[in-house]
Amino acid sequence: MINVRFPDGAVRTYEKGITPMAIAKSISEGLAKKVIAASVDGVVCDASTPLNNDIALKLHTWDDAEGKSTFWHSSAHLLAEAVESLFPGVKFWVGPAVDKGFYYDMDLGGRHISEENLLSLEKKMNELAAKNSPYIKKEISKSDAIAYFTEKGDEYKLDLLAGLQDGEITFYTQGEFTDLCRGPHIPHTGLIKAIKLTSIAGAYWKGDEKNKQLTRVYGVTFPNQKELDEHLQMLEEAKKRDHRKLGKELGIFTFDDDVGPGLPLWMPNGTVVIEELERLAKETESAAGYKRVVTPHIAKESMYLTSGHLPYYQDSMYPPMELEGVKYYLKAMNCPHHHKIFSAESRSYKDLPLRLAEYGTCYRYEQSGELFGLMRVRCLHMNDAHIYCSKEDFANEFRAVNDMYIKYFNIFGIDKYVMRLSLHDPAKLGQKYINEPELWKETEEMVRKVLIESNIPFVEVPDEGAFYGPKIDVQIWSAIGREFTLATNQVDFAQGRRFGLQYTNKDNQAETPLIIHRAPLGTHERFIGFLLEHYAGKFPVWLAPLQVKILPISDKFNAYARRVNQQLLEAGIRSEVDDRGEKVGKKIRDTELMKIPYMLVIGEKEQTENSVSVRRQGKGDMGQCAVSEILSTLTSEIKNRQNI
Ligand SMILES: [Zn+2]
Ligand SMILES: [Zn+2]
Repeated sequence: MINVRFPDGAVRTYEKGITPMAIAKSISEGLAKKVIAASVDGVVCDASTPLNNDIALKLHTWDDAEGKSTFWHSSAHLLAEAVESLFPGVKFWVGPAVDKGFYYDMDLGGRHISEENLLSLEKKMNELAAKNSPYIKKEISKSDAIAYFTEKGDEYKLDLLAGLQDGEITFYTQGEFTDLCRGPHIPHTGLIKAIKLTSIAGAYWKGDEKNKQLTRVYGVTFPNQKELDEHLQMLEEAKKRDHRKLGKELGIFTFDDDVGPGLPLWMPNGTVVIEELERLAKETESAAGYKRVVTPHIAKESMYLTSGHLPYYQDSMYPPMELEGVKYYLKAMNCPHHHKIFSAESRSYKDLPLRLAEYGTCYRYEQSGELFGLMRVRCLHMNDAHIYCSKEDFANEFRAVNDMYIKYFNIFGIDKYVMRLSLHDPAKLGQKYINEPELWKETEEMVRKVLIESNIPFVEVPDEGAFYGPKIDVQIWSAIGREFTLATNQVDFAQGRRFGLQYTNKDNQAETPLIIHRAPLGTHERFIGFLLEHYAGKFPVWLAPLQVKILPISDKFNAYARRVNQQLLEAGIRSEVDDRGEKVGKKIRDTELMKIPYMLVIGEKEQTENSVSVRRQGKGDMGQCAVSEILSTLTSEIKNRQNI
């Protein structure tokens, strides 16, 4: 008999040799139908793997990341089977699961896959899936494996085999197709119910442009049609909401070759959004006891040697400039500058927690191929702050930081978020992680406790902490369900020591503070990119670059329109008059295209009654109201940062 420990801590006893699938069946048939794979002592494997020792078991379904990636990788095998039946003689390289779906790289021997071919391949895959073919694993000797692929004439698989040893080679067969693969796979093809091949691309073998170009076919599959439909609809919507498209249409940002790749220029409309975000951050931080600082964009090499950015982070920094025989670097992070502000004065426990905040400008050397709109840039403005605190204060400070994240999520209508708590691995202390076993245990426990108490959804990821402490990555989802990594919130017990930061504690002894690095609004670049998609460019009034457009129906009312406009401007509302000689219908359409939240239409009746007719973006005609009334509506909506 063997003992099997489940994620909830329960331990049950089973016959030696039982499989995860049989365990699932013993729990319920319903569960067994959903099981895709299993983790045995943290390693993902087939649900048909015999269990011969005491182990920790987790059953994977479509609902978890391991389940999805096993599902998609198995779908790549199905794609290969379909390709082989339509393109005999095709040779295959690798077919991994990716973020959303899978791909397979193949050598079609001079043939091409057309869009119509994709449809036939989908049809073929559906046929093959419906056969419910099991994915059968077979251990095979290296010589037999070489013989198989030599006969098939697949030099790519032979290349993969060259790097493998006897005892670690397995084949998987489903239906008519056999692949060299270490697995794991789903139990049978029948689980794949909805298939979409999304695109074809060229990909150099092993990513090297000196090598032959292979054909890469991308696809995505689901266990039901409904999820595929939703996914395709989301992709369609994401295209409309593409931040690069909206950013141009709405005059938010631009790039210029003479300025350089990855260096966005913020246009007047984008600058308004930036200033509103900074106003929000400054108000929130000031209420939470933060102090603002300003630091230079460059610093001497010696500081980055102290911080450890050099040489470890050098590849991500701009090359240095030399002045008066000293090397200077553009700053890639604000932390070292803030540490220097901490150490500029002698500190006592009475000065702590010290919270230093700055919307700091950083420069990072991202590879040209990695640059992407506002999401991957070389110049970024970070909602940064560093909190220097004692161990006793840590839990409260950390809780307050989390509360700030949640407060922002509410303001922006971000309903779905998860924090990923990355922990250390005790076996790697002194190598991958700073050798402070007690501090690791203490801080990880404190962080976990705060997350649980604050009811924040989180997952724990072992062995992914930062070198200097546990790390919390914050993932958020836009209104159309796309995932973004917003920012990290980090605990740091190493930098303080590296920089010799000290304060005098209550017992009059020198102590090193803990440091919390936090940036709830991430960078302007990434966050505004996210907001453009999230709001589809329709910013709530408080964030909208232009909040009100006043539309006189003819020249006769331009003077009154300007008087109303003046009142709005004086109340701090961003407003403009459209006094072009156009028909009001055209003025309304143009204003809607620019996604301006409020339109005030003015004609004879409005002028006589000192009123306006209100049209609200997305809601249409709201009727007529007095100028004083619209002023107070707007003022309160802006002041409360109402999310429409
Ligand atoms: Zn495989
Ligand atoms: Zn930092």
